[in-house]
Amino acid sequence: MQPNDDTANATEPPTNGGQLLDAPEQVLSTLKADGSRRWLYPRLSKGKLWNRRRFLAYFLIVFFVALPHLRWSGKPLILLNITSRKFVLFGHTFLPTDTLLLTLLMLGVFLTVVLATALVGRVWCGWACPQTVYMEFLFRPIDRLFQGTAGKGGKPKQKITGWRAVARFAIYLVLCGLLAHTFLAYFVGTEQLAQWVRRSPLEHPTSFLVMGATTGLMLFDFLFFREQLCLIACPYGRFQSVMLDRQSLIVAYDGNRGEPRRKGKRSLADSAGDCVDCNQCVVVCPTGIDIRNGLQLECVNCTQCIDACNDVMDRVGKPQGLVRYSSQDSLDGKQHRMLRLRTVAYPMLLVAVAVAFLAVLTTKFAFDAQIARGRGNPFQQISPGVITNNFSLRLTNRTDESREYRITISEPVGATLLGLADKPLRVEGNEEQRVPIVVEIAVTKIGTDGRENAVLQIVDDIGNQREVQMSIMGPRL
Ligand code: SF4
Ligand code: SF4
Repeated sequence: MQPNDDTANATEPPTNGGQLLDAPEQVLSTLKADGSRRWLYPRLSKGKLWNRRRFLAYFLIVFFVALPHLRWSGKPLILLNITSRKFVLFGHTFLPTDTLLLTLLMLGVFLTVVLATALVGRVWCGWACPQTVYMEFLFRPIDRLFQGTAGKGGKPKQKITGWRAVARFAIYLVLCGLLAHTFLAYFVGTEQLAQWVRRSPLEHPTSFLVMGATTGLMLFDFLFFREQLCLIACPYGRFQSVMLDRQSLIVAYDGNRGEPRRKGKRSLADSAGDCVDCNQCVVVCPTGIDIRNGLQLECVNCTQCIDACNDVMDRVGKPQGLVRYSSQDSLDGKQHRMLRLRTVAYPMLLVAVAVAFLAVLTTKFAFDAQIARGRGNPFQQISPGVITNNFSLRLTNRTDESREYRITISEPVGATLLGLADKPLRVEGNEEQRVPIVVEIAVTKIGTDGRENAVLQIVDDIGNQREVQMSIMGPRL
C-alpha cells in the first residue's frame, strides 16, 4: 500500500482541530474546555475501505438524485407528498386513512433498522447516509481543493480567505441549491418541481421561499453544522447502545494487541503493544474521537481510522487490523455468534409484519366510506310527523381511476335521502370527498327509545358495494 504523503511519523502528535479533552471534561468530542467549538479538519486516509466507500458514495449520489425521477406503473417510485397527504411507494398510493398499512410499514422500517444495526452496526451511517455521503465525498473534497490537504498538525495548510472564500461559498451555494431541489422532489414530485423551476418566483412566492429556506438549511448544515448533525441532532447514535449487542459488528481498536502503546522504535525484546501512538487514527476521524477509547456514540463507522492504522502498520512492519471491523466479544477472545436472540427474533417479527402488510394491502377495498353525525340538533322537524337527520359521509376512492358512486338508504323502509336521488357522485382516483347526507323519515318509524338503525348502500360504477351502518335519532314516543 502506498503511504499518504502527509501521514506519518511525528514527534509532535498531529491533532484534528485541537486537542481532544480527556474524561470527564470530554462531554462532546467537538467541545473545548472553554466551551468553544473544536473545529475538525480530518485528514484523508486513502486506504482500501475508503476506495470502496468512494465508489459506493458516487453511486449513491447518482441514485439519490435519480430516485424521485423513477417511475413504477406510471407513478413515482417514491413520493412523500405531505401537503396533499399522499404517499406513493412502488406505484402504490397510501392515504392518511391507511392507518394500519402505514403503521405496518413504519414498523417494518424500524425492524429493518434494528436488525441491520444488530448485525452490522452503524454501517448505514458510515457508508450510505446522505449526510455522510455528501459531506465526505462532495463538500470535503471542495474544502481540500480550496484549503489544501490537512497535513502535519492536522490543520489546513492554507487559511481560506479572499477570492477562495467567495469561490468556495459560490460552489457550496450551487450544490446546496441542487441538493435542495432533489430533496424537495421527494415531497412535491418532479412535475411540480419542474413547474416551480420554469415559472417566475413572483408567480409562486411561497414555493420559492420553501426552496430558498431548504437551500439555506443545507448550506447551514454542510458549511457550519457538519458533524454536529451526527453528534447531537441525529437520534440514531443515541439509540445505538440499545440496538447493538456485544456481538454486533463495530469499528474497534484491539487493545489486547495495541496496549501498552508506545511511541518510537522498539527492540525485539520490547514488551510494548503494536500501537505506536502516532495519533493517525485520531486525525482522520470526521467526528473527532479517539477510537482507542472504545465504542463511542460519536463513531459513525466511517472506517477512516481502519485505513489510517493499516497504513501505519504497513510502515512499521506489523500485521494490519489493529483497528478493524470486529465485535466487542471477538476482541475479548470470545467466539462470534451469528445466531442470537435478537438476530432470530427481529427477522421473525419482520416476516410477520411483511405478511400482515401484504394481507392488508391485497384485501383492501376499492373505496372507503365513513359516516359521522352532523353538528347541531340530532334531528329537525320539517313538517308534522316528519323529521330529518344530518350526517357527513367521507368517501375515499382507493383506485387510481375516477369513479362514480350511487348512494341509497336501504333501511329502515320508508326513509329517504334528500338531495342525492339519482345523482351519482364522482370522486377522482386516490381522492376523498365529503358528502352531506340528509335522511328524511316519519316519526312513527323511529323506535320508542328515540333511535332507529339505518343502512346506507354505496355502489360504484363497476359494481363494488359497501354498506354503512348509522343511527337515526328522533323524539321519544
Ligand atoms: S472512530 Fe473511526 S470509524 Fe469511528 S467515526 Fe472516527 S474515523 Fe470513523
Ligand atoms: S491505533 Fe494505529 S493509527 Fe491509532 S495511534 Fe495506534 S498505531 Fe497509530
